[in-house]
Amino acid sequence: MDSKVPARATHPATATPDVPATSAKPEPPRPPVVSAEPLKSPDPMNSADPMNPADPMNPADTENSADPVDSVDPVNPAESVPARGAAGADEPAPGDVRSRVWWGELSPAHRVAADLDGYLGDPMDEESGPFSYKAIVEAEERDELPAGAVDAVRSWGFPKYLVPAGLGGRLTTLEDLFFVTRGISRRSVTVAVMYGSGLLAVNPVWLWGDGWQRRTVADGVLNGDLACFGVSEADHGSDVMASESEAEVQGDELLLTGTKWPVGNATRGRFVTTYAKTGPRDFSLILVDKQELEPDMWTALPPVRTVGLRGHDLSGVMFVGARVPAERVIGRRGSGLVQTLKTLQITRTAIAALSVGTMDAVVRIGMRYSRERTLYGSDIYKIPVIRDHLVKTHLDLLIAECVAIPVTRSLTVAPGRLSLWSSIVKYFVPVLGEEVVASIGTVLAARGYLREGVAHGVFQKLQRDHAIASIFEGTTHVNLANVAGQLPYLIEPPEETGHEDELLADLFCWTRTPPTWEPDGRMLQLTNEGRDEIGQRFEQISEELLSAANAHAAPGVAAELKDLMSSIGGLRAKVDQGIRASEGDTGSVAALARAKRYCELHAMMSCALTWLHNRHAFGGAFADGQWLVLCLQRLLQRAQPDTILSEEFLPSLEAAMFRVSDERRWFSLLSLAEDE
Ligand SMILES: Cc1cc2nc3c(=O)[nH]c(=O)nc-3n(C[C@H](O)[C@H](O)[C@H](O)COP(=O)(O)OP(=O)(O)OC[C@H]3O[C@@H](n4cnc5c(N)ncnc54)[C@H](O)[C@@H]3O)c2cc1C
Repeated sequence: MDSKVPARATHPATATPDVPATSAKPEPPRPPVVSAEPLKSPDPMNSADPMNPADPMNPADTENSADPVDSVDPVNPAESVPARGAAGADEPAPGDVRSRVWWGELSPAHRVAADLDGYLGDPMDEESGPFSYKAIVEAEERDELPAGAVDAVRSWGFPKYLVPAGLGGRLTTLEDLFFVTRGISRRSVTVAVMYGSGLLAVNPVWLWGDGWQRRTVADGVLNGDLACFGVSEADHGSDVMASESEAEVQGDELLLTGTKWPVGNATRGRFVTTYAKTGPRDFSLILVDKQELEPDMWTALPPVRTVGLRGHDLSGVMFVGARVPAERVIGRRGSGLVQTLKTLQITRTAIAALSVGTMDAVVRIGMRYSRERTLYGSDIYKIPVIRDHLVKTHLDLLIAECVAIPVTRSLTVAPGRLSLWSSIVKYFVPVLGEEVVASIGTVLAARGYLREGVAHGVFQKLQRDHAIASIFEGTTHVNLANVAGQLPYLIEPPEETGHEDELLADLFCWTRTPPTWEPDGRMLQLTNEGRDEIGQRFEQISEELLSAANAHAAPGVAAELKDLMSSIGGLRAKVDQGIRASEGDTGSVAALARAKRYCELHAMMSCALTWLHNRHAFGGAFADGQWLVLCLQRLLQRAQPDTILSEEFLPSLEAAMFRVSDERRWFSLLSLAEDE
């Protein structure tokens, strides 16, 4: 008997079930029935389980609601958490890979996000305030954000996560920001984009700004002011070297003229970080504070009507001889292009949070629907192709976590690698998100097309909102082109430094806290100079993986991993061969296809490294490694569509999916770390 289920082709929406719907259906594991009451969780920093949300927000009482300033100290979170080995701490025995993850050891990002998640409440619950799907969909019908949504997020303290700790905020690591953005995005990508556009605008100030600029912008953002980043111009799009906006130097002033469009927060934003020509081939970033301008020096352009993100302020700004003090140039005059490219490395990475949050939302909606919808006498989860969609989209979400989280950590662990890794994340995770959304759309069928009904009709909104992730801050093509441009250097790696193992542990170990970000633009680089510790250490990682799997993984896992690593090795060799044979071609369709494959290989190694570096701490089904086999098989389907998922490894994954869905918690690899 064949113990494996056939996998579908790469694009889930085109899947054809190999097993007819009427054939014998596998019985999914049935989790215990849980109460529909909102989950209650105490103070997040004392919460034993970061996946467990706290009390849902009471929208009528946002003044008194759980401000993380009071409840969480992300700057020094360890103070609120019992030290390892302290009385009452649930410490695993050393080397006991089966023991439950010791939650207090997770990096602070997990706890901060759990706090926000509890504060915002369960979006499926109509009573949970402005972040309920009901309120979100109703407001969108009016092109608005739900009343009270922005106040609620402010009241929780989200703007503090845009301001570095050294300037009075709470932005200590990009991992923190990623996790809280993911939490907002699983409810409203629109609100997340509003703040994300602001982050793009303020990062150059943190990275290169002078004391006055930093102080002014930090105070403004902490007081609720918005910022926007004006790079795009209608006629030039991605070709930023063709930008026409100009800032002419006149004594100690700049005379700014030009139109930036489309720009998020352009009308509501106080600060406009403006990309403008300051010489024949020179561009600068200029911090424009609208409060300093005479009213006739600038005009906000009309709102742009969009497919998704309705309620977001997408508009533009026209400067007409705006007089700006010359010292508003951020950093050195003429370095605007380099600054823009470096700044994008941070926000491109953070955009993955929009996708992971959206994936969480749609998989949750799909899971619930598949068990409530009855056809032919039982729930549709029992139809093989429906189960296939849900299992694979869940695997995709786990893969996205493995890819995105280490790159968020690299801002302070290995900032010089972000030029490559941020483009890999920005290409790969949004595309994965789009595939997941399309796949769940097929599960919901008609209900996915309605603006009412299942989950208050939020699915179609999530779908429209999420589509922006692969467009702004460098399209999918632009990011693949960035990767393709570095490939010829990556196949000739420089000598190792000897720090590679430690670097990988810092990136992948979820229980290590990344160093605090002290913004300094010099730490970011325009290329990786041929270094990629994730992609280039295939042999060492394979060896380590197989030896750990042989010793500790569940039966059958090591054998599957051996086959998988051999296939992955074959794919790597082919990419390598293609690059060598193409003699410096980095712009053709074939070059972008090689870049795509390189990103997929990066994702495979990221999954392997996530298992290797967390199996001791997490234990449970995580340490068993069956999920790793499934994720690698899932990724391999992109290059080899006939690859099949090991049916015998699915039960533990499905058990976690059902448990987390029933308990209304985040879908995450962490769910596999739990005892059942
Ligand atoms: C909702 C929303 C919010 C936005 N917010 C902002 C903002 O806050 N600030 C801001 O400045 N801009 C913003 N933009 C603009 C956005 O960043 C641009 O739309 C984006 O950079 C792409 O530009 P374009 O649409 O003009 O496409 P174009 O640059 O005209 O590209 C056309 C096509 O060519 C491809 N292409 C371009 N260059 C390459 C290349 N090197 N290699 C391969 N293919 C390539 C593209 O992928 C695309 O398929 C926003 C846009 C939207 C829709």
